[in-house]
Amino acid sequence: MTFDTTVPPKMNCITADVVIIGAGLSGLQAAVNIQTAGFTCLVLEATDRVGGKTLSIKSSSKQAGINDAGATWVNDSNQSEIWKLFEKYNAGAVIQRATGTSFQQAEDGSTISRPYHKESSGRDDARANEMRRIYGAIHEAVETSDLEHPEISASAQRLDTMTFAEFCQEAGPNIGTGIASVATAALLGVEAHEVSALFMVNYIKSGYGIRVITSDEKDGAQYIRARRGMQAISEGLASELSQGSLHLSTAVKSIQEKDDGLYEIHSTVPKIFKAKRIVVSVPTSLYHTIQFTPPLPENKQKLGQSTALGHFSKVALVFEEPWWHTAGLSGVMTSYKGPVSFTRDTSVPEDDQWSITCFIVGDTGRAWNKYPEAERRNAVLEQFNSVFSTATVVPKPIAVHERIWSEEPYFLGAPSPVMGPGVLTSLGSDVLRAPVGNIHFVGTETSIVWKGYMDGAIRSGQRGAEEVITSLRG
Ligand SMILES: Cc1cc2nc3c(=O)[nH]c(=O)nc-3n(C[C@H](O)[C@H](O)[C@H](O)COP(=O)(O)OP(=O)(O)OC[C@H]3O[C@@H](n4cnc5c(N)ncnc54)[C@H](O)[C@@H]3O)c2cc1C
Repeated sequence: MTFDTTVPPKMNCITADVVIIGAGLSGLQAAVNIQTAGFTCLVLEATDRVGGKTLSIKSSSKQAGINDAGATWVNDSNQSEIWKLFEKYNAGAVIQRATGTSFQQAEDGSTISRPYHKESSGRDDARANEMRRIYGAIHEAVETSDLEHPEISASAQRLDTMTFAEFCQEAGPNIGTGIASVATAALLGVEAHEVSALFMVNYIKSGYGIRVITSDEKDGAQYIRARRGMQAISEGLASELSQGSLHLSTAVKSIQEKDDGLYEIHSTVPKIFKAKRIVVSVPTSLYHTIQFTPPLPENKQKLGQSTALGHFSKVALVFEEPWWHTAGLSGVMTSYKGPVSFTRDTSVPEDDQWSITCFIVGDTGRAWNKYPEAERRNAVLEQFNSVFSTATVVPKPIAVHERIWSEEPYFLGAPSPVMGPGVLTSLGSDVLRAPVGNIHFVGTETSIVWKGYMDGAIRSGQRGAEEVITSLRG
């Protein structure tokens, strides 16, 4: 019999006051604030870059400029926390172009054109009236619900037993389900029958109501893009961290509480990290990918198990010239056919960067995702050409950038975890933010304002840092 006598190499051990899991906006903001308060803090990030769901890529070899494959829009009024950083790191404001003729494609592929922003205003037919009733019902539910604790609102129990599809159908029996799914797919990458009405109402309220959250005009959620790309903000935050505190390509596998009160963290690198406090910034739906010892309390585990991320993919088509501007088109298409559900002009004129980004979301996105790459691209280009060529000649793109977030192991989808019926009223909303021992939880979905958005991510990082600093000083 032979014995293996090799001694395992002694693992390098690094100790800090705080270890943060994840270098997205929330984790980075928490790290900056904790270091500014005078504590040592390490950030462990699974991927080989900072930014999480902010990811900016070069548009093409022929043009300067970038395209955002992840988060894209902010505004300069009600998204104050991300806006301060936008200005601080000189991200370069590009106002969203919102003029020209847009297209609407029906399920059978037929296409109509209409001026941007003018779908039902002023119209008095049955469809427009039903649409107004649905918007009215959403608006009223948003106005009467509690922002911080939606589960205590008078209508909470009723809203949390139904899906958002059922809620909209009550107000508009003919088109409610369709309108509901357009909204949930565009905002969260899921179908309306997957989302609790209470969750959706609270999500809309946290984004200042249905008008603001769907708008690309002043104060709207889709008002301003970044010339340098949104990842520049993440990189700006990372540049403020003290040298050696950022560990990329370090995916955390386990967090163990030890008898000396410290936490021991094991990851995909042969090092042990130790800390007095932990900040977890990974989305709730990824909690199961980390082994906690002792295990997380039941309600935190249930939270992780009962949230899911949507399908929210982007395909950016980059062109040599802004041919749609010349043709008087906005670059906007909405489609009930798919695979592309909607498009937006994502050009940066200052950089001679001309692009239209296609959003492939919800169930049609999930189905599209299963095709091989060449078929996926063909399906997008075929649909795009069939719609835009009704008005002008559509040239070939000089570059195509595809990003499928649900295929990424450290994201599993985007933009933010979603709750089905019954979760908010059974678990309550505080569970999102409640620390467990000395483990603190941040991430955009834990924010009260602008949850699911970059502004919410920054706010959650500030809140998490505040908790940690108070407890370390305690
Ligand atoms: C396509 C798309 C479009 C969007 N559009 C907008 C928009 O226009 N405006 C807007 O405001 N927001 C938008 N968002 C949402 C926005 O990107 C997010 O709200 C925000 O970036 C989330 O930040 P976060 O720090 O909470 O999470 P994340 O960015 O997900 O950060 C979590 C980090 O944890 C890391 N991680 C995961 N597991 C581990 C592990 N085991 N160990 C170590 N690290 C780990 C991940 O790699 C990631 O870097 C969009 C998102 C996407 C994907």
